[in-house]
Amino acid sequence: MTSSLSYVHPTPGSPWGTYLSQVERVTPYLGHLARWVETLKRPKRALIVDIPIELDDGTVAHFEGYRVQHNLSRGPGKGGVRYHPAVTLEEVMALSAWMSIKNAAVNLPFGGAKGGVRVEPKQLSLKELERLTRRYTSEIGLIIGPQQDIPAPDVNTNAQVMAWMMDTYSMNTGATATGVVTGKPIHLGGSLGRVKATGRGVFVTGREAARRINLPLDGARVAVQGFGNVGSSAAELFVQAGAKIVAIQDHTGTIFNGGGIEFADLMPMVQRQGSIAGFTGAEVIDDESFWDVDCDILIPAALEGQIDSARAQRIKAKLVLEGANGPTVPEGDDTLAERGVLVVPDVICNAGGVTVSYFEWVQDFSSFFWTEDEINVRLEKIMIGALRRIWDTADQHRISLRTATFAVACERILTAREERGLYP
Ligand code: NAD
Repeated sequence: MTSSLSYVHPTPGSPWGTYLSQVERVTPYLGHLARWVETLKRPKRALIVDIPIELDDGTVAHFEGYRVQHNLSRGPGKGGVRYHPAVTLEEVMALSAWMSIKNAAVNLPFGGAKGGVRVEPKQLSLKELERLTRRYTSEIGLIIGPQQDIPAPDVNTNAQVMAWMMDTYSMNTGATATGVVTGKPIHLGGSLGRVKATGRGVFVTGREAARRINLPLDGARVAVQGFGNVGSSAAELFVQAGAKIVAIQDHTGTIFNGGGIEFADLMPMVQRQGSIAGFTGAEVIDDESFWDVDCDILIPAALEGQIDSARAQRIKAKLVLEGANGPTVPEGDDTLAERGVLVVPDVICNAGGVTVSYFEWVQDFSSFFWTEDEINVRLEKIMIGALRRIWDTADQHRISLRTATFAVACERILTAREERGLYP
């Protein structure tokens, strides 16, 4: 029985509500496994932590952090850590649930988890950020570990944050535990190819989808929302394949150049200052006009809840590649489907990052490291294989790629649930 006071009850319009309606949509395709579906509507475990840190001016500030383990039926928890002022428990629950689906969709031996801290990291000094990361890691140290739950980078966290997390966990447990996080610096057990893996996965699944709808990449016009790790890495590969980046939006604004934004000119500036602000090789347009831009491929690679029904009506692209987690709300999905726009959903499109995180974890355990070529070849093989399986399921039931991805993933998770049985 669900109580309206329960934390599993969604706030209208929240990412957790979006996730729950995606589970509703897949339930008719789950056959006898539907009897276990309630498992997917409740996180297994959610930890809320207080993070007090001393600021550089000597005052003490408190931040709220979370680690949610949505489902551990198929293996240890796996999922990133986000630092953002809008982080809530409900958002982290949704992100952890999407990790369960994603890990099962690509058949990685992981459950789903996610973490977050409600903080504007841009307002902290490097030392304050380190103190925040170390205290957060200590607090969630109760439930993470190389065999229990393995965090990774997400919005506003990076290899340096992972190094602090690894060091803190190792200090607390008395042994260097490289496998406790992925997305680490290379010389601390990180994997070659990890930084750009999510963007590479977006490109690989996008190329396969474009081929299936006869959309040539050479000359294709691409619009990207979010030009951080995922958006910029995907954009680079599309440019290498002959596409033109016509519009980019980040937290500072939106730029447009119908002839193509010169990636090689823009990128060093973004790396230096962390945004596209002040770039002179394109016209500045207002943020809302981003959704009207004439393009063939749209890559939302920022935050969730960006494509509602109204924006979905205006999108000109034939193909939407969800680099971000949860960028499209269910009504937006319906409108895109009615208009014949193909969506490669987040739960397969952006799974490249966690796939190479899996490679990193395996390499750390065996203390034997692969070349970047080996990693990219294995990544591509796994992503294409997973997408084909999903596409076949979509064709078989005449359902969207999103519902098909959920169908493949939920079947794997719930079969594991059934085979393990209920304890006690
Ligand atoms: P990032 O911090 O490197 O970049 C985020 C980008 O989004 C920045 O360019 C920022 O300016 C932009 N942005 C923030 N708020 C915005 C707004 N309101 N409007 C427009 N742009 C805005 O983060 P990332 O790692 O690239 O992650 C982006 C998305 O991809 C997130 O949804 C994340 O969960 C998802 N994702 C990331 C990974 C990964 O490996 N990093 C893996 C899977 C999914």
